[in-house]
Amino acid sequence: MPVFNSVLAWILNLLPKWAARPFARPYVAGTTASSALKVVAELNSQGFSATLDILGEHVESPEEGGRVKDAYLQLYDLIAGQDLDCNISLKLTHLGLGLPDSPAGENLLELAARAQEHGNFLRIDMENSDYTDETIALYEECRRRYEETGMVLQARLKRTIPDIKKLCGPDFNCRVCKGIYPENEEISLTTAAEIRDNFSRAVKAILIGDGYAAIATHDIKLIDSLQAWIIDQEIPPRRFEFQVLHGVPMGGRLEELLERGYKVRVYVPFGEDWFDYSIRRLRENPRILGYVIRNLFRRRKRVPSRKKTPAGGRPEDTVPAC
Ligand code: FAD
Repeated sequence: MPVFNSVLAWILNLLPKWAARPFARPYVAGTTASSALKVVAELNSQGFSATLDILGEHVESPEEGGRVKDAYLQLYDLIAGQDLDCNISLKLTHLGLGLPDSPAGENLLELAARAQEHGNFLRIDMENSDYTDETIALYEECRRRYEETGMVLQARLKRTIPDIKKLCGPDFNCRVCKGIYPENEEISLTTAAEIRDNFSRAVKAILIGDGYAAIATHDIKLIDSLQAWIIDQEIPPRRFEFQVLHGVPMGGRLEELLERGYKVRVYVPFGEDWFDYSIRRLRENPRILGYVIRNLFRRRKRVPSRKKTPAGGRPEDTVPAC
């Protein structure tokens, strides 16, 4: 299967954009802010919260990072203007992290200030381990000035539990995800069972440590076991939320979570960079292509008559994000 996925990812790379679009569609909310905001409005009307991400990473100049910052500033204004239940998730390399004299920190602070002006929130996505230390340092700097700032830790990394112990406290708002970037075995866990176990330990450590946990996974077993622990420990719903990627079929599980009174937030990526971004992601982790293909068929077979997908109003219009 891994070889099959790699070959498919390579073939996809040779296809013209129009032919690759069906693979990308289920996961991206179009190319413009207005198309993404429509998806968010639809999600809100179904009871879901959202977080918007402009696709892209690793800009090549400070000017490009500045343009990305401006686009996010405008996005905060648009979200406020439409009174949407939606915050923003962004990648620091998209704001210039990694460039000489990186402007990422300055851009980040300006964005956090705008988020605060609107009573909104900013989450810093976590990229590959080359950037973990710098991301945590910039998060801490930003968090000291702007309370409504959160970050992400990856269960795949061995350092995650020690990081939580260092960072956690009443104001620590952290998304836990498995981690999409393949990492060196010295620093990362390798089996699905170990990663799942570390995911659970990370969420529990945040919740026991008075933090706020954003539980970002489509792994139903993991959701079930964490939900059982949360109920058992009587953790109040204001201390956590579930998060999923737009377009990943969840078979009604998200609606069940909403019915229980839990917050469910959908990560909605959009932007012109959808093609390059998804191809990069597929090259890094060809397993995703297997998910996409399985999900395309699963969607048709199992939920032909659903009025809406759980993750939004454009069931056939969504590229693997993150
Ligand atoms: P898996 O066991 O990998 O997947 C469970 C099932 O979900 C699969 O069988 C498949 O059916 C489905 N599925 C999972 N992912 C996809 C997909 N992309 N497309 C289609 N179907 C899929 N990673 C980071 O490294 N940094 C981040 O900042 C980050 N932010 C994220 C934010 C959110 C809201 C989410 C949900 C994920 C984020 N990720 C991030 C990605 C994450 O690390 C995982 O790679 C991804 O979620 C798959 O892991 P899983 O927990 O869903 O479990």
